Amino acid sequence: MRIPLYRRLPPHDQRETEAHARVLLAEKRFEAAAGFEIRAPMPLLVASQASILLLHRQSAYFPKLRSIILYPANFFVSTKHVDPAGFVTEAEEIRSGESWIHGAVVLSWDEVELGLDPASRRNVVVHEFVHQLDAQTGDMDGTPPLASATARAEWAAAMRDARRIVERDTGGANHAPIDRYGLKSPAEMFAVATEAFFLDPRSVKRYVPTLYRVLARYYQQDPLAW
Ligand SMILES: [Zn+2]
Repeated sequence: MRIPLYRRLPPHDQRETEAHARVLLAEKRFEAAAGFEIRAPMPLLVASQASILLLHRQSAYFPKLRSIILYPANFFVSTKHVDPAGFVTEAEEIRSGESWIHGAVVLSWDEVELGLDPASRRNVVVHEFVHQLDAQTGDMDGTPPLASATARAEWAAAMRDARRIVERDTGGANHAPIDRYGLKSPAEMFAVATEAFFLDPRSVKRYVPTLYRVLARYYQQDPLAW
């Protein structure tokens, strides 16, 4: 399969990924938008990458998710912002992906393709499906269901460490491995931190060892050992 992340997995994890992907393909609906034509193996490429997030643990298969909507390219969404004084700002924003708490992941196929480049440090499928893991608690607040209060405290501390590293990042040769987009909210930090964990694990472990530790425990995976 043409998925760099999948190719790096040990054989038994590849088999588990395939089994999870079959469940997702059976349970979720793929829908085309903006005149896109969905062809094989597009659904499989999406389902397989999402499945890597489910390895090694009891899976609920993104229980809130019903549909995966594919656009040919980046798409526009209308946003509405109401400030405390009641002023309403409406805007058109361009997106490469979206994750809705009730039922859908939306993806630009151009962006999915970018994530299939072995050199890519971004993966929109991983990113949007992390939001679905996050949504399992009932809100997208940057924390997925965790086993204990201790685990939640460690998670919060690691995400704070990640935030600090990104805030201090001045670019250049020692560029932090986590995208600045993570500063937007705890939910976005969880998503970009996961992309970095799988795509640039060495740097994540070096720059934010606490983050590497909590993500390795949550995902029950050690991408550095692949
Ligand atoms: Zn996001």
